Amino acid sequence: MDYLQKAYCMNQSMRIYAAITTDMVKHAKDIFNMWPSSADAFGRLLTISSIMSATYKSGETLNIFVKGDGPIGKMTVEARDCKVRGYVVNPGVFLQNNDGTVNITKAVGFGEIEVIKDLHMRDTFSSTSEIVSGDIANDFSYYFAKSEQIPSAVGLGVSINPENNEILAAGGFLIQVMPGCKDEYITKLENKLKNLKPTTEMIKEGYTPIDIINEITDGDYELLETKELKYECNCSKERFKKGLKSLGKVELEAILKEDKKAEITCNFCNKKYVFNEEDLKEIIFEL
Ligand SMILES: [Zn+2]
Repeated sequence: MDYLQKAYCMNQSMRIYAAITTDMVKHAKDIFNMWPSSADAFGRLLTISSIMSATYKSGETLNIFVKGDGPIGKMTVEARDCKVRGYVVNPGVFLQNNDGTVNITKAVGFGEIEVIKDLHMRDTFSSTSEIVSGDIANDFSYYFAKSEQIPSAVGLGVSINPENNEILAAGGFLIQVMPGCKDEYITKLENKLKNLKPTTEMIKEGYTPIDIINEITDGDYELLETKELKYECNCSKERFKKGLKSLGKVELEAILKEDKKAEITCNFCNKKYVFNEEDLKEIIFEL
């Protein structure tokens, strides 16, 4: 089970979220048959999206886009109540660095991050920032500083066995510095992060989120909450029926005549919905 833990640290002047997301990344890799660079980049995005969702109230929705010019193409994630779902344009990207490790910066490329928030108010809020590195972690750290004016540190990782494409571990953390935080705390944190083991190494060694928080804060924290994280799609035949209806009578009658059925695959979970002759006749009748 994936979950995150949230804590205050450094005399309540920082908030820290740490998450283990191995299951959701495995799930995404399996449904989209992802190759290592795509799985790594998208896994990192799923991780930070699920953590960001935990910083918002229940029911508030985040639509997060990473629009890079690399071969993976645009990545899309929707996050609400710590549940995430999403997709990428090209799941079949595998680039390697000279040392054989999985490359994601070239695979993501440069471009823009866009976050659209639906907070159940009259309007939605949209904010953008540049992709500054392509490793997702630095890009979101930059996003929080620039678009939300919250100085933040982000660590994200996905460990993949390139031999068999198996996801070994995934997770990350988000540290938000509150206004008025003392400089000495920030220096202490920066020094700690410089020497921190990669998150995925810690997870492979059996660290829980709170163990990661403990490691970052040298035990100086106050646990606030624990939340389950999950990859979940809420699509249904009923929802796709609405989409078909919007095509209109003429188009639907043409489909009925030529194909006798309509097949729709959900972008977010790859589930296939089939509308047979009878279903189509019923939809046309209802129009
Ligand atoms: Zn779906």
